[in-house]
Amino acid sequence: MKNRDWILKNLIIAIDGIAGSGKSTTARLVARKLHYLHIDTGAMYRAAAYAVLQKNVDPDDKEAVEKLVENLKIRLKQNDELQVLLNDQPVTQLIRAPDVTAVVSKVSSYEAVRMKMVEEQREMGKNGGVVLEGRDIGTVVFPDADVKLFFIADLEERVRRRCHELIEQGEKVDFDTMLTDIKSRDRLDSTRKVSPLKKADDAITIDTSNLTIEEQVEKVLSIVSEKRDGKTIVKE
Ligand code: C5P
Repeated sequence: MKNRDWILKNLIIAIDGIAGSGKSTTARLVARKLHYLHIDTGAMYRAAAYAVLQKNVDPDDKEAVEKLVENLKIRLKQNDELQVLLNDQPVTQLIRAPDVTAVVSKVSSYEAVRMKMVEEQREMGKNGGVVLEGRDIGTVVFPDADVKLFFIADLEERVRRRCHELIEQGEKVDFDTMLTDIKSRDRLDSTRKVSPLKKADDAITIDTSNLTIEEQVEKVLSIVSEKRDGKTIVKE
C-alpha cells in the first residue's frame, strides 16, 4: 500500500540542542501533530539520576552509578502526556526536581549509562514514526535520522524559559542560580568524553531565541514536510 500516511509515519526525527532551547516542548507538539511517538531521552537520564539520589549513591562514584543503572528499568509511556516509569513506578514530575537536575549531567557522562540508554532508544525508535530529542540523537543514537535538527537560543532567554517553567510548576526559582545551572550543564554536556553534545554536520540549526513555540513547531513541520516529499521509500 503506497500511501503518504505510511511514509509520514516512518520518519525518524532527531532534535538535539542545548538546555532550555525549546527542544522538549517542540518535540512533544510536533509528535502530537504527526501522531508520532515522542521520545524524551533527557527524561531517561533524569530517571537514572533520580534513582542515584534515591539509593544514596554518590554521583561521582562512576562504578557504583554504572552498577545501579545497569539494573534499572526505565520506560517512557505515552498516553496524552508522556509518562516516565522507573522500575514500573511513575516518576514523571519527580525527575524535574532541582536536585536531580544538579546531578544529571554527571550521571549521564558515564559510558555504561549511555550505552544502556542508547540501546533502549534505538529499540524504541527503530521502526520510525518517532521524534527523539536529546543531546546525541543525530550524532550517536540515530546518525542516519531522516531529519536532524539542532536547537540553540541565547543564554538569558533559556534561563527565562526554565524559570518560567518551574514557576508554573509551583517551584521557587532564582534567576542567577538557574543561570549558573544551565551554564554548568552546557559545559559538562559538551565537554564530556562520551558522546558530547555537538551538532551533527548535516543537522539544521534552529535558533529559537526570538521564536514562539508555535513558530518553532511550524518551522520543524515545514522541514519535515520537505523531507517527506523527497522520501522515496514506500511500503509494499
Ligand atoms: O533534556 P534535559 O535537559 O531534560 O536533559 C537532562 C540532561 O540529560 C542533560 O543536561 C544531559 O546531561 C543529559 N542528556 C544526555 N543525552 C541525551 C539527553 C539528555 O546526556 N540524549
